[in-house]
Amino acid sequence: MKQILYRPGRIFLSVPHMGGHERNYVQKALEDNWVSTIGPNIPGFEHDICQHTNAQHAVAVSSGTAALHLALRVLGVKPSDVVICSTLTFVATANPILYLGATPVFIDSEPETWNMDPVLLEQAIKDSLSKGKKPACILLVHLYGMPAKLKEIMEIADRYDIPVLEDAAEALGSRYSGHQVGTFGKIGVFSFNGNKIVTTSGGGAMITAHEELAQQAEHLAHQAKDPAPYYLHSQMGYNYMLSNVSAGIGRGQLEVLEKRVKQRREIYSYYYNHLHEIEGLGFVLEPKSCFANRWLTTVLLPEGINPERVRQELEHDNIETRPLWKPMHQQPLFAGYSFYGNGTSDELFARGLCLPSSSSLTEEDLDKVIRSLKQALQ
Ligand SMILES: *Cc1c(COP(=O)(O)O)cnc(C)c1O
Repeated sequence: MKQILYRPGRIFLSVPHMGGHERNYVQKALEDNWVSTIGPNIPGFEHDICQHTNAQHAVAVSSGTAALHLALRVLGVKPSDVVICSTLTFVATANPILYLGATPVFIDSEPETWNMDPVLLEQAIKDSLSKGKKPACILLVHLYGMPAKLKEIMEIADRYDIPVLEDAAEALGSRYSGHQVGTFGKIGVFSFNGNKIVTTSGGGAMITAHEELAQQAEHLAHQAKDPAPYYLHSQMGYNYMLSNVSAGIGRGQLEVLEKRVKQRREIYSYYYNHLHEIEGLGFVLEPKSCFANRWLTTVLLPEGINPERVRQELEHDNIETRPLWKPMHQQPLFAGYSFYGNGTSDELFARGLCLPSSSSLTEEDLDKVIRSLKQALQ
């Protein structure tokens, strides 16, 4: 039986876009028989990640989710610990908190960048401390590639001495005050899933300035094998290794990362220039301190317009759009966990739409999306 994945001519939300040299790295892996979770592309890819982000250490693993799980583990998150987490995100941010038996506390967005609201963050920390519980970690997200309010959040984190984990899965190549996101917290995490700005087909990485954290994560990702001639284990590990073939794709992709960022930013500008005059249509503007990779262009539809109807109308034109991430505090999975709200993420979810943003889109494709969207809004 043949599975029909899509209708021909479809305009997708975000698809892989090869640079050309991926083939060479993969071919070399096949020729040299490094078709394995060991091989030269893995340290090579980790080196390239450090080069691009200015990180001291990188650990490449099988997914962004795995990297988040390892990061929380090496930051010492234990059962019954509290982890403060952005509510407006993909479930992969929050699931690793549950993997460790810890308790998420969700924080609403601020309206400027859509990321963790520093005011609510501090309130949650104070409340937790007043109950005798110091939060084990602040897990923030740079949503759709837009950096969070890092100055405010890092200042709070330092004041209360709580480690920050940056979920930069969507934000590779984004900068805040000139520095790459992922390098502000104790650990930063990237995803190389097929829908992200660059891909290994599936993969992830964590970066850190702390050598011992990188070593520990690497150890746990490799089944926590202790040094011995036989299989010796003193800790519970995971099989979170990345394939040397995938790492080869990643090496080729990182060669074109800057180009991809430029292309996605141009796509954002194109949409903005052609749509911003529509009454009530909102964009996320780039604050002065930020340089966003614009992984996805998102819009807030005018009030009273149902995003689901718009999505369906574009779907009819064979154009893929998506609602924003449904906030974690609205998910049945997280019913019963604490949430510090201000109404922002609820409103964003009710009005937002993600537009096709693949770096391979042509001007003709973008014009088609713009036409279709304008029609749907009439
Ligand atoms: C994609 C994504 C992840 C997970 O990455 P995978 O590589 O798919 O496991 C985590 N957080 C956010 C915000 C993401 O968008």
